[in-house]
Amino acid sequence: MKILVIEDEPELREAIEISLKRENYRVETASDLESALIKIGSYRYDCILLDIMLPGGSGLKILDELKAQEIPGNVIIISAKDSLDDKIRGLELGADDYLAKPFHISELSARLKAVLRRKLSGGKTNLEAGNLCLDPANRTLQVAGRDVTLNRKEFDVLHYLILNQDRLVTRTALAEHVWGDHIDQADNFDFIYYQIKNLRRKLTDSGARVELQAVYGVGYKLTAT
Ligand code: CA
Repeated sequence: MKILVIEDEPELREAIEISLKRENYRVETASDLESALIKIGSYRYDCILLDIMLPGGSGLKILDELKAQEIPGNVIIISAKDSLDDKIRGLELGADDYLAKPFHISELSARLKAVLRRKLSGGKTNLEAGNLCLDPANRTLQVAGRDVTLNRKEFDVLHYLILNQDRLVTRTALAEHVWGDHIDQADNFDFIYYQIKNLRRKLTDSGARVELQAVYGVGYKLTAT
């Protein structure tokens, strides 16, 4: 994965470059608008990290140029400018995300991963419900763009419930899907109850906008709220 960092503050640029290289990205850099325009005209990047206030002009011009030339690639705006206008304008111009300075490099790394994951899956294989985005291929869940860690069974339960969004899923169907065909011979379904309980707590803690409704004695239904 090849990343272009467009940032004029040398310390920040170097910090980003070092940490992304450590995560095995290929990293190129530009420190002003003109050199950045030349780079995007000549090379392709999987993601561009874009500062807005640059020597030579606004980083938004980069977005204009990418759009005008129909250059594929993702952009995350990293901007110190405490301006809502920049954010809205940037997203309108096709930026994928916006990160306000100062930020932790770990946060930037997480956003970058999210953007690249969406790119790799073409935005098609992911399942969405409310502010949840579940990636079956990589077995990851994001709530409002942030990673939430689930154990294997919790993930499988949620996956099945999202696939059946707004429909009542019986405990038997859920058990068979997640635990295997012979589970219907189990004495009781307490194990589902505990997985659902943990899952519900994790979703609530992460600010998920979905409801995991229990229909007493029958099963569960997931709905966006
Ligand atoms: Ca700057």
